[in-house]
Amino acid sequence: MAGLRVTVAGLGVSGVPAARALLDLGAEVTVVNGSDTPAARDQATPLEKAGATVRLGDDRQLPDGAQLVVTTPGFRPDSALFQAAEQAGVPVWGDVELAWRLRRPGAPPWLAVTGTNGKTTTVRMLAEILRAAGLRTHAVGNIGVSLVDVVAGQPPYDDLDVLAVELSSYQLHWAPSVRAHCGAVLNLAPDHLDWHGSMEAYAADKGRVYEGNQVACVYNLADPATEELVRRADVVEGCRAIGFTLGSPGLSQLGLVDGILVDRAFVPDRQHQAQELAEVGDIHPPAPHNIANALAAAALARAFGVPPQAVRDGLRAFRPDAHRIAEVDTVAGVTYVDDSKATNTHATEASLAAYDPIVWIAGGLAKGATFDDLVRGAAARLRGAVLIGADRALIREALERHAPEVPVVDLDRTDTKAMAEAVREAARLARPGDTVLLAPACASMDMFANYNKRGEAFVAAVGELADQPEPTADSHRTDEER
Ligand code: ADP
Repeated sequence: MAGLRVTVAGLGVSGVPAARALLDLGAEVTVVNGSDTPAARDQATPLEKAGATVRLGDDRQLPDGAQLVVTTPGFRPDSALFQAAEQAGVPVWGDVELAWRLRRPGAPPWLAVTGTNGKTTTVRMLAEILRAAGLRTHAVGNIGVSLVDVVAGQPPYDDLDVLAVELSSYQLHWAPSVRAHCGAVLNLAPDHLDWHGSMEAYAADKGRVYEGNQVACVYNLADPATEELVRRADVVEGCRAIGFTLGSPGLSQLGLVDGILVDRAFVPDRQHQAQELAEVGDIHPPAPHNIANALAAAALARAFGVPPQAVRDGLRAFRPDAHRIAEVDTVAGVTYVDDSKATNTHATEASLAAYDPIVWIAGGLAKGATFDDLVRGAAARLRGAVLIGADRALIREALERHAPEVPVVDLDRTDTKAMAEAVREAARLARPGDTVLLAPACASMDMFANYNKRGEAFVAAVGELADQPEPTADSHRTDEER
């Protein structure tokens, strides 16, 4: 890399580490970034001090003399910058491709997870299971830990046995050489199609996680498209296709039998034997899609030789990240659940399936999604719905079509107090024993900085509700009645 003129496309959690690593290797680095905000300048200054040229406010032109482009996931494949690179015959790598190529001899193998939903959860479960087996590991990648930092091998990433790697479809798109030890595609549902151009292109990028796998390609029996991707992959001779299912497992599968997670893939005599791994009760929370995530994590861990008991211990130790089906509180007999991370209909479908009856808080930016199937599937479990955000009319129309008897509150406000009102309205619709579920099926950026902030607003609003005194008979009376 020394002396190579490299353009890094984008700052942020992947661009900054990539630029740093390239500078350390002696490359001549130019960073281009579309926005010129104070936050971008804060990131740019230390890179400039370290020797990079940073161009803020223009990410369309390819800098003169560029020999390689290293891109962050925000850039769409049809970006002007890449068109210019193609015309100039300059290769484009993602930051994950860069990381893969910078690995040193003896670097830890990657157990890689992708899918439309459940990646972070599965990778964290996997890391817990590997740790329970005494292996030195970290959950890294799209989870918010740059693989470029990881492969540099500085603490805490030195001396690792194996990596639990989350890969997004964007990252896989630009990572043609990555060869994970084992890979998993959890599920495939339409998402980010504006970036990829089509469902076929999106699926093909996800399928790259299987390329060159050595021991197992893990797929979801409930999602045949994932198995098809395994069939198309070019893997190492002897690598096996391992399915996971919420049903009873067949040969070379992991599944469920009477509430027990069972392995019929990594046992000596799989014709006649099955190995108990854990109980459903060991998984937090034990919602069906989370059990599927646990089975996928278990499959990857077992493929890596982890003993059954570590699967159980790891799953017991796992706790979900914030805003993923997190139980916030129970107020007046109603349970409040924060699934702000449900930013698409596929994720929301999973959390709506986990509760009954539900008062559903939804809405935001639909990203081109339609809501008919989602609402049709959940209609019978809905006590009511409270709609927020820019595209709430799309959900309201779906409710009118498929659940006309469900009461709907349509909140026409986007200020900072909107979530508090949404929660109060939901509390009004709910009865003891119900669940109020924030699972918006939409992105948050019309009202919040991100899904974290949306979830925090929900948690704060539930807190306010809990702080209010229980209404007494007296408080319902008007002044005249007193
Ligand atoms: P990702 O990293 O793929 O975005 P997360 O684990 O952060 O996945 O979960 C994202 C959202 O998807 C959450 O709302 C969660 O409840 C939901 N989810 C998690 N696992 C699954 C799954 N296997 N199928 C459908 N939805 C899921």
